[in-house]
Amino acid sequence: MIDLMQKIVSFTKRRGFIFPSSEIYGGFGSCYDFGPLGVEMKNNIKRAWWDEMIKKHDDIVGLDSSILMSPKVWEASGHLTAGFADELVECKKCHHRFRKDFLKKGKCPDCGGELTKARKFNLMMKTFVGPVENEAAVTYLRAETCQGIYLNFKNVLQSMRKKIPFGIAQIGKAFRNEINPRNFVYRTREFEQMEMQWFCQPKEAPKIFNYWKKERINWYLNLGIKKSNLRAREVSKDELAHYAKRAVDIEYKFPFGWKEIEGIHNRGDWDLSNHSKHSGEDLKYEGYFPHIIETSVGVDRSLFAFLCDAYTEIRGGRTKTTKAAKEVEILLNLNKSLAPIKVAVLPLVKNKPKLVKKAKDVYQMLKPQFRCQYDEVSSIGRRYRRQDEIGTIFTLTVDFESLEQNDLTIRDRDTMEQERVKIEDLIKILKKKLNEQ
Ligand code: ATP
Repeated sequence: MIDLMQKIVSFTKRRGFIFPSSEIYGGFGSCYDFGPLGVEMKNNIKRAWWDEMIKKHDDIVGLDSSILMSPKVWEASGHLTAGFADELVECKKCHHRFRKDFLKKGKCPDCGGELTKARKFNLMMKTFVGPVENEAAVTYLRAETCQGIYLNFKNVLQSMRKKIPFGIAQIGKAFRNEINPRNFVYRTREFEQMEMQWFCQPKEAPKIFNYWKKERINWYLNLGIKKSNLRAREVSKDELAHYAKRAVDIEYKFPFGWKEIEGIHNRGDWDLSNHSKHSGEDLKYEGYFPHIIETSVGVDRSLFAFLCDAYTEIRGGRTKTTKAAKEVEILLNLNKSLAPIKVAVLPLVKNKPKLVKKAKDVYQMLKPQFRCQYDEVSSIGRRYRRQDEIGTIFTLTVDFESLEQNDLTIRDRDTMEQERVKIEDLIKILKKKLNEQ
């Protein structure tokens, strides 16, 4: 399984999905950059989530709040007190530090040395605003996007003439000074979250919690995650975060085990009542503090889950290139809406100028409509393989017949079946196949 993890990490680098940050300087602790295909996929995930929230549901509106906020926000939210801290232990010999709950034995996993007693380590990333670096200028990079939503509860309520119940959705970066970032983009210090906060009457909260639990599981299944790799885990009372009355983790079976990708939380009136108390602003609605059901997912974590789920190795080769029989081919069978490239255009051979020109014309015609690639380098079998590897849904081949008939073949990534279609019908046909019409 660890082997699979290494394969996926090297695959994502080789094919332009994810690169280590600051690589030419030797890398920088658990930071990653999303390459040309990674950013397309990330945008597709964010679009799928945004559409799910904003288009599918009647009463959810969007928000984009700032990363830097008044430090008072983090006092009110409980993040600056013990609430948002992990227990840290240090090895007395090699001085490496670890999150206590990640350790299986009471010894240093690196050198076997004795460990110090655990102490609380706050995860907030401190920074200074303005030209003077003193205590008065201290603030924090946000550790979760939802605080910006609570601060704007009243603004949204009033400006959008909303009534309880309604929701606010937001996508944005969050930062945590994780003690042990690990498992590639699973746990990093800078990551992106997609969070939705649903404001409701206290008595409605338990029912709404169950509704969102079901909705969120279905979102992953509809985007192609295998049912056997997904589960919901009820978080036990002693594991609950400081703000939560109830929590369910949606977990994915990663190569390194079952791990959380999303949390559904019943936050009760913790947020609005505390912000009311600390700010002096009355955040009640019709005399009560609305309760909040939250759905919170990491873009990077879910992208990683979608990649793991789609990554398939096929021994012996499916594309029937001469060498393939001995090789392992990779197929990335990502859902249509998540695949970074939808269509690739290939001339059958590259040394026939008429074929090349026709293929390039088709590419130019499709480019404004779909994420496309043009590829003329190496044999047609190899090019099919390259496209399968990055999950391209359709590969179009312009051959000699195309010059006479003004048509081409569409090859389907999953079935490898080829169909001849007229070039004038191409956009309509592709839109239909990609469910984009
Ligand atoms: P964990 O127990 O793994 O530290 P958490 O329970 O603290 O996570 P939440 O605060 O519920 O996580 O955050 C909601 C979501 O944000 C998580 O399900 C995850 O997808 C994402 N997330 C949280 N921390 C990180 C991180 N360090 N790196 C990447 N994504 C993260």
